[in-house]
Amino acid sequence: MNPLGGLTLRLSYTITDRFTKEKVSLDYTVELVTTPCHFGGLRYRFVCPLFINEKPCLRRVGKLYLPRGGSILVAGSATT
Ligand SMILES: [Zn+2]
Repeated sequence: MNPLGGLTLRLSYTITDRFTKEKVSLDYTVELVTTPCHFGGLRYRFVCPLFINEKPCLRRVGKLYLPRGGSILVAGSATT
């Protein structure tokens, strides 16, 4: 749980840089938000952890992707 009381998911993994073949370890948290479902219950969504021009993206998505050549999981296609 983050200091603001929101839910977070901790991601910890290692990737191999495709050029240098160097192993890079990553350990960071992604915020989760919930939206009420029509028939009850809650739907969890990831808040995109990416910063674009030093501004947080904050897109809320159901899935995160590892872009080709990237290292952190981000929201989908457009602007990521
Ligand atoms: Zn994004």
